Amino acid sequence: MKNVVLLGSTGSIGTSTTKVAADLPDRVRLVGLAAGRNAELLLQQTRKFEPEMISVNDPAKAAELQAMLGTRTRVGVGDDGLLKLATLPAADIVLIAIVGTAGLAPALAAIRAGKDIAVASKEILVMAGEIVMREAAANGVRVLAVDSEHSAIFQCLDGKPASSVRKLWLTASGGPFRQTPKEEFSGITVARALKHPSWVMGRKITIDSATLFNKGLEMIEARWLFGIEMARLGVVVHPQSIVHSMVEFVDGAILAQLSTPDMCLPIQYALTYPDRAPSARVQTDFPKIGSLTFEEPDAERFPALALARRAGEVGGTLPAVFNAANEVAVAGFCDGRLSFPQISETVARVMAAHQPVNQPSLEQILAADRWARAAAA
Ligand code: NDP
Repeated sequence: MKNVVLLGSTGSIGTSTTKVAADLPDRVRLVGLAAGRNAELLLQQTRKFEPEMISVNDPAKAAELQAMLGTRTRVGVGDDGLLKLATLPAADIVLIAIVGTAGLAPALAAIRAGKDIAVASKEILVMAGEIVMREAAANGVRVLAVDSEHSAIFQCLDGKPASSVRKLWLTASGGPFRQTPKEEFSGITVARALKHPSWVMGRKITIDSATLFNKGLEMIEARWLFGIEMARLGVVVHPQSIVHSMVEFVDGAILAQLSTPDMCLPIQYALTYPDRAPSARVQTDFPKIGSLTFEEPDAERFPALALARRAGEVGGTLPAVFNAANEVAVAGFCDGRLSFPQISETVARVMAAHQPVNQPSLEQILAADRWARAAAA
């Protein structure tokens, strides 16, 4: 039985995690839940899973929830609530699925309290991967991947060291504009960018999948999770999203993890690791799929990959700047202030204006994040 704290329980990853918990009542117990604004869904989840503690952003909503729930469940508020949940004595593992950077402080608090963490919020590793992995090693805790690509690599590596790897291959669906000519990019609307061909996800990550910034963030995430330099990280476009990623070993053998796309699978693996628990949820029908295809990503139409590679190679505070500038640019695109190509143009300009700090402290990373947000705005 794993006692799990779930931060971001009302989002796309969060609700998939509650499905996994409902599937595996003998293995997964949700002892803590945190939401941002959706108090209604959080209340439903609390009634179903009876966690020890929950948290929401708004103090008034927290007070309402506390009045409805009585003394059985403690209700926290905002950043303080997240930190209390991340260090809840009953928790074995903290799954972080908050969009954006709000998950970083709770992730570090959980590690320092001796909890394993399962990371969906890739921003955490992009911004502060070096610090997170160093702290995890010092505290003897695991950092488990929830992202399907990183879960695939983790499964294929199966404990082999970085020295046995020739290359890690991240697969990318290519997003909804894989075949759209460059001349049409400036006319792309938010509604079109939100139609992902193979995954149903939160809003920000769906736009990031259309620009390939998501793959760029994943490259940097993989760099830290697996201790692999950027030169040994490749991206290949695979529109069917069946091969979730691959490890090419030094002898030329390649192992891949395949399955129909469903986030419940990598979430379940992170929560039951090192065991595999039976589940009928994911079924893969090869004759129906027919063929699996692979293409080179188009660097000209999707500058995000080269920007991510540079951010990962230079390191220091540059990945945090890459991430923060993209967040602001995506918000600008969603508000109709930027065109689709201006997302990567904005990130490129902000990165070019940044003076990276090497081996930054957490405070320097957060300062770079704030600077990049202001510069992008
Ligand atoms: P969603 O937008 O669907 O959900 C975000 C969640 O975070 C919601 O529960 C939201 O609460 C909560 N939240 C936002 N801000 C705060 C805050 N300040 N305090 C507490 N909770 C907060 O996002 P996704 O589930 O799609 O993505 C979450 C993370 O997982 C992202 O980092 C994403 O990149 C990553 N990821 C997602 C995948 C997917 O398939 N969706 C795949 C791989 C990674 P509320 O709704 O109540 O406001």
